[in-house]
Amino acid sequence: MCDHHEESEDYLPGPESHPRGRAEAAIIYPVISRRARGLSLGINLFPDQKRCTYNCPYCEVRPFSNPDVRIAPGMVEASLRAFFSQDWPLYAGQFELKDISISGNGEPTLSPFLEEALDAASAVFHEMATADPGLDLVPIVLITNSSGFLRPEICKMLENFSQRARLEVWAKLDGGSPAMHRILSGSNFTYGRIVDAIADFAVRVPVKLQTMICRDSRNGRTLFDTENYLATLRIFERKRARITGVQLYTVARPPAEPWIAGLDDAELLTIARLVRAALPEKIGVECFGRTGYIE
Ligand code: SF4
Repeated sequence: MCDHHEESEDYLPGPESHPRGRAEAAIIYPVISRRARGLSLGINLFPDQKRCTYNCPYCEVRPFSNPDVRIAPGMVEASLRAFFSQDWPLYAGQFELKDISISGNGEPTLSPFLEEALDAASAVFHEMATADPGLDLVPIVLITNSSGFLRPEICKMLENFSQRARLEVWAKLDGGSPAMHRILSGSNFTYGRIVDAIADFAVRVPVKLQTMICRDSRNGRTLFDTENYLATLRIFERKRARITGVQLYTVARPPAEPWIAGLDDAELLTIARLVRAALPEKIGVECFGRTGYIE
């Protein structure tokens, strides 16, 4: 899983009786997640190949091909049901399920199965909640790189879903400036367009921001423009975008490009303090260093 999509520390073992496993071919995968701070159940909509609109140098998903694995209608729901009937009893006593996250090997808004996956998660959780009422409170988290907010039909679909289920949207916003965003997204999506798209969407549906802060080890430069990032947060405030929180994190696993390096906890905390000071108190700022949550 890529860094913004899944901050997993460890995949958990389980029976191999349904399409799931430790490899990228998994559709459902339970992980201990540093960002969820507990057990997170992932739904991977790209078991056959990586698909993304970005090409982040810190990405941890390598291009791959599993031509024998295809996601088909009904498969997410069947996999979820198989997980809950076969594996969940093994985990339930040991872990609290913190969230179910839709992410996987790429950008989930590119998948034609996104809406189906959201509905499947909602339906299965709702049913399970009869026996285990806590499950009805578990949020369904969509982890996106934000480029999907440029597509009105995606925004509408997510807005509709948010009105009938416990949806949380975690949206990537890296760099803080056009130049840094270009480096970190490896794409031609301009920073301004992405910022506007997040703002417009967050007026309708609350959003938590996820921001990668890392370094170019070739020259020691931190790939983050703090001043402009804070200015972006002020734009969100002006536009009345409902930003519910900010997660700052650094590289925890081998990145795509060898010149990407993680930040020390102290550096990350210095930036986190500035971000915190710029935001209203009700908007929490969480910080995840190379080995986990830091205060
Ligand atoms: S958005 Fe970036 S980090 Fe996430 S899957 Fe795409 S390339 Fe990887």
